[in-house]
Amino acid sequence: MFIFDCECHLVPAASDINYFPFYKMNQIALRGTLRATVPLMLYGIQDRMTVEEMRKMTRRRIGKEPGESGAALVEKMDEAGVQMACVLPESFLPMSLGARMMSTNGWLAQEIEKYPDRLVGVCNVGPLISRGVKNAVWELEYLVQERNFKAVKLYPVDDVPINDERLWPYYEKIQQLGVPLFIHTGYSWCIPGRSANCLPWLLEDVCEAFPGLTIVAYHMGYPFTDAMNMCAMKYPNLYIGTSLLPGFGHGMSVRAQILLAEAMMYAGADRIVWGTDLGANTGEVEFLKRFQISEQVRRDYGYPPISEEDRAKWAGLNLAGILKITPPQVK
Ligand SMILES: [Zn+2]
Repeated sequence: MFIFDCECHLVPAASDINYFPFYKMNQIALRGTLRATVPLMLYGIQDRMTVEEMRKMTRRRIGKEPGESGAALVEKMDEAGVQMACVLPESFLPMSLGARMMSTNGWLAQEIEKYPDRLVGVCNVGPLISRGVKNAVWELEYLVQERNFKAVKLYPVDDVPINDERLWPYYEKIQQLGVPLFIHTGYSWCIPGRSANCLPWLLEDVCEAFPGLTIVAYHMGYPFTDAMNMCAMKYPNLYIGTSLLPGFGHGMSVRAQILLAEAMMYAGADRIVWGTDLGANTGEVEFLKRFQISEQVRRDYGYPPISEEDRAKWAGLNLAGILKITPPQVK
């Protein structure tokens, strides 16, 4: 089965900005998220993990400096059996009070250009309003046309709401370039961050104003998954990205089964996209391969089982279609 991760973040070492108050607050917030979700992502593992174990699982290098690289990501992908991955920088510019992005698009371009058959660049030119929409539009056009970036990421958490009309020239440019837009939707995990900017129903304005723009909504809009599903039902240009599902769903639980079955029911199997957020890893690949709607849940809720054809679309074929990539032959 061809496996293509729609969301892998790449972040170099960050000890130079670790004294900013938001950075410290964000580390605490992230630790809380990982403590609550990561141990539950691994099927069969119930115990709390140590930070070291978490890093191992999430491909971060053990040591004082958990910096990452394209090479480290490809190594993890090989271990897990993931053929391709969309790779994104982390902006988080407000976290260092504007000192620097966690990872710049230029750095990311250098890391991934060594692996053109494995890694697909997704640029993030935000935060859009504070950087200036005009500047952001210039950069994204350059990155797509000159540096081979194949998609664009919007992170409204530290910007403005998805439907703020000051963003229209940005959406317009992405639609014109013919590349998809990946948007963080649902709750904000980080500090500083505003979940209210990422509510799934804000996508209505964008989907109606830009029907030619393909949008992948990351994290299923969690915890507002019902609203996300209803939007995807209405707009054929809206796809649901399932990154972090094993975390929200607490592994292969009934809850996870309902979350995925509902998304598949409303959006359809052609518009569900698998991804991790934490980077390709064996735990999440096991989840992807083994996840199924149990007989009990099928009986109680009337959901169909996940067919192997649906699983292959979810695992990578839908994403390959969105990015106009011919999937490589995989056994
Ligand atoms: Zn994410």
